[in-house]
Amino acid sequence: MTNPFFEAWNTPYEAPPFDRIETSHFQPAFVEALNQHKAEVVAIGANGAAPTFENTIAALERSGKLLRRVEMVFSQLTSAATSDALQAVEREVVLLVARHWNAIFLDPNLFSRIERLYDARGELGLDPEAQRVLERYYLDFVRAGAKLTEAERGRFAEIVEHLAALGTQFGQNVLADEQETVFPLSEAEMDGLPDFARAAAAETARDRKINAPYAVTPSRSSVEPILHFATDRSVREKIWDAFVKRGANGNKNDNSQVIEEIVALRAEQARLLGYESYAAYKLADSMAGTPKAARDLLEEVWDGGRKRAEADREALEALARSKGQAEPLEAWDWRFYAEKLRLARYDFDENALKPYLQLEKVIDASFFVAQKLFGLTFAPREDIVGYHPDVRVWEVARAGKIIGLFYGDYFARPGKRSGAWMTSFRDQSKLDGEQIPFIVNTCNFVKPPEGQPALLSLDEARTVFHEMGHGLHGLLSDVTYPRISGTSVVRDFVELPSQIYEHWLEAAPVLAQFTHVETGEPIPEELLERMHAARTANTGFETVEFVSSAILDMDYHSQPMNGSVAEFEKAVLDSINMPREIALRHASTHFLHLFAGDGYAAGYYSYLWSEVLDADGFEAFEEAGDPFDAETAKRLHDFIYSAGGKRDFAEAYRLFRGRDPDVKALLRNRGLVTVEADAEA
Ligand SMILES: [Zn+2]
Repeated sequence: MTNPFFEAWNTPYEAPPFDRIETSHFQPAFVEALNQHKAEVVAIGANGAAPTFENTIAALERSGKLLRRVEMVFSQLTSAATSDALQAVEREVVLLVARHWNAIFLDPNLFSRIERLYDARGELGLDPEAQRVLERYYLDFVRAGAKLTEAERGRFAEIVEHLAALGTQFGQNVLADEQETVFPLSEAEMDGLPDFARAAAAETARDRKINAPYAVTPSRSSVEPILHFATDRSVREKIWDAFVKRGANGNKNDNSQVIEEIVALRAEQARLLGYESYAAYKLADSMAGTPKAARDLLEEVWDGGRKRAEADREALEALARSKGQAEPLEAWDWRFYAEKLRLARYDFDENALKPYLQLEKVIDASFFVAQKLFGLTFAPREDIVGYHPDVRVWEVARAGKIIGLFYGDYFARPGKRSGAWMTSFRDQSKLDGEQIPFIVNTCNFVKPPEGQPALLSLDEARTVFHEMGHGLHGLLSDVTYPRISGTSVVRDFVELPSQIYEHWLEAAPVLAQFTHVETGEPIPEELLERMHAARTANTGFETVEFVSSAILDMDYHSQPMNGSVAEFEKAVLDSINMPREIALRHASTHFLHLFAGDGYAAGYYSYLWSEVLDADGFEAFEEAGDPFDAETAKRLHDFIYSAGGKRDFAEAYRLFRGRDPDVKALLRNRGLVTVEADAEA
């Protein structure tokens, strides 16, 4: 049997040949890739010659090529196009991979070579980038247990493997709860919903062969329109209930037990490494540095956000009463009345913008910004295949030179997890000649019926820009070593390139690109004015739902978990006086950031940390009086987008901005600075 992972890829730029990759190829490809990598690494550790940067660090950087090739394709497929068969492979492979890395990180011969280099790092004559990579390797090994005693290693390895299995199970459980529950809805139950939401719900009913005109699932993209627009309160309530109970239904997909195990294992892992908590361990390798620094920022924003939300609640309650709702305001009412309140206060109906925000135009606008800031052009390559018919591919060029491939996968479908994310099939590096990156953006927009354009909400358009910002961080990367390429930076810095990019969506020359789907007219000036006026209309709510989730994350990872998941969550929310009408953005049992892998564990605050940087950073363009100011754009390119992990991140920011970030920019961005405070400052 031929296996494309064992062959050269004769595709343009050696892009993955998805038309030939099948589920059955992964298991044997992983086994072979892990064996190859193991042999390479063992040889590096057993080298009789004294360690040098070249024969140790550079050799490690060159090892594992097949493994990377398999893993990068596999991880996107298990997230965006999975199946029962692929999930079974995933459960098996995740253990093999965890065991493999344990063996590498806990190999004393290998680590002693790295440590000798690290101790002599000042005398090796390394350039700053190589020195940074050496430091990074040393830290990676130490953080993965290289300095543990012989006795501790066995238990540590066990924990890492167990956590890998639990993370996979957590993600698969959430997906199952989202896909196994479908609510049939009648014409009357859809009252209040705009056409785009009706079309999507009708499509779901057809797809799922439901004997009703409409159907929705408890996935975010399906639930949001119901919560915003359904006039039937009982419909909002039942859909809300299913949405917040994902992973907490007491069925085979229930994640409560999984969370208890994950939290306990992480605490034990941190203790073995000498940290007082998992949060302390995680944040030691971040810009924030300590859980206290992260928490201080969350608390600084929390009070202003909650006050704002409480004032809005009064207004929403009054509005609900005036519309004849006798019952008190509940979580499933908030979005519905917030829409009406915004309309009353600002005369701004978000749906009025939708006909202008065609997905195609929004993608083009995100390319336009990349062209204005960084001189990039994007050309479709229909001959390069994706892993699903909806996936599209562009070739990215600058000054006549191809710098990467960009894959876009925009529509929700079964087998794809909720949310939006950027990943890659190959990262930029120059270690063995120029290797261009293959970058992927994945979103979950509702697919329109055949032949109709996809129309986005303002929030969804922002998501396109956000993921494009991450994408550019990968595409513009200009480093030698794979370990520090593109988005391989600390977690609380990684949202800077993505979040700062969102600001350009609302720049005048960008908004001018959006024309009405039927009339071709640009967005009327007065609609834009109302949009700008309403920009921070709901930031109280947004701040509360985000910051409460970030505090919950910190508490899971910095204190002992007393009682069940439900009890712990409630105790945390009580401790911060969470308004009862607002729910966590992500409740524990479906909080993928925290528990489906450890990437954002004790790291959900990162979005806010990065927002301090992006709000302050974008003001540099405002101060220059031009959203595309060439000099500011060049510094943004040189020190942020192209720099990967080349240097310390606070220093990188200072080089871009000329000073440290000012946290007030974030409060201004969210409209949480009072007039008096502004006058003082
Ligand atoms: Zn992001």
